[in-house]
Amino acid sequence: MSQMTVERLHQLFDEQPEHADLIWQGACHDCGRPVTVSAIPRADGIHISGGSLYEPQENRFFLKCEACFAKDPALHNFQDCEVYSRVVGYLRPVAQWNDGKQAEFRDRKLFAV
Ligand SMILES: [Zn+2]
Repeated sequence: MSQMTVERLHQLFDEQPEHADLIWQGACHDCGRPVTVSAIPRADGIHISGGSLYEPQENRFFLKCEACFAKDPALHNFQDCEVYSRVVGYLRPVAQWNDGKQAEFRDRKLFAV
């Protein structure tokens, strides 16, 4: 269901001024290896090669290489996780902290009492 539909691909092609080929480059969501997925419109339909493409939320794309798609075609663990922690006396989502405080959060160490 999160996989790209033909209707959505046509919509993306229509948004392109020249109806050019669509190419996505990035890391495979599962194995992290670089992957390039291309969608090329032809007379007999859209040809997709290089891997698979997912859009679980509008304009948020994920790629899978062909090997990982063959192992498991479903997309897992793609949703952001909101992490709350204490900053200057308050519990706030870490994503809303300023850059300096986020750097300080990454430097924090866990320890067992
Ligand atoms: Zn992969």
